[in-house]
Amino acid sequence: MNKPYQQTHLCWAVVPAAGVGKRMQADRPKQYLPLAGKTVIEHTLIRLLESGAFQKVAVAISVEDPYWPELEVSKHPNVITAPGGKERADSVLSALKSLQGLAAEDDWVLVHDAARPCLTSTDIHLQIDTLKNDAVGGILALSSHDTLKHVDGDTITATIDRKHIWRALTPQMFKYGMLRDALQQTEGNPAVTDEASALELLGYKPKIVEGRPDNIKITRPEDLALAQFYMEQQS
Ligand code: C5P
Repeated sequence: MNKPYQQTHLCWAVVPAAGVGKRMQADRPKQYLPLAGKTVIEHTLIRLLESGAFQKVAVAISVEDPYWPELEVSKHPNVITAPGGKERADSVLSALKSLQGLAAEDDWVLVHDAARPCLTSTDIHLQIDTLKNDAVGGILALSSHDTLKHVDGDTITATIDRKHIWRALTPQMFKYGMLRDALQQTEGNPAVTDEASALELLGYKPKIVEGRPDNIKITRPEDLALAQFYMEQQS
């Protein structure tokens, strides 16, 4: 694979893919649903592999997952399979541990949801270029165009200043050792819903890099049609 960032620190990718995706109401986890001739996770992994940015891609897969071994990409020489965990953070930690001995403490890790198949190489390289000299790292994010309301039940209690509100996407890019330690120290904390929140809880200040709006997460059935539309536009 290419090593464009070797002059500073190497980059590794981690893909949590051990969720069941209940909101899709499908017969299989959402990462295995068909999308534009492949499964969702194949698109995600092929985009990461073809970006040329990563030494290896470590994928966290549920131990009872019968679909993963059937995919050709699971046997790719630069793909490592790790056992998934109960929560997303457990899956990420498990994948990080599978890179032990390969990744150096100060190497970069980009954690990307399996369920975000429209990620572009442009965004991967923009993120790495923007953050590669940062002390902590940061995440792709999107600003909010809508006016935002704080609501109690069905009643508006406040209008939030959207200038300070960003939506967290993935990849989330942090130093290998720092991220592993942060996830270990915050294990079981329900406030840890992404990698950045684990670092924030320990007092670090991750950055944001404005990402593309087509980097959507497949969550509901209608998201598959939207992802297909974005993929057609991208090609
Ligand atoms: O459910 P949600 O869309 O937030 O999941 C985000 C990503 O985290 C998905 O790619 C999912 O497969 C992964 N995940 C995981 N292990 C879990 C729960 C979610 O790898 N226990």
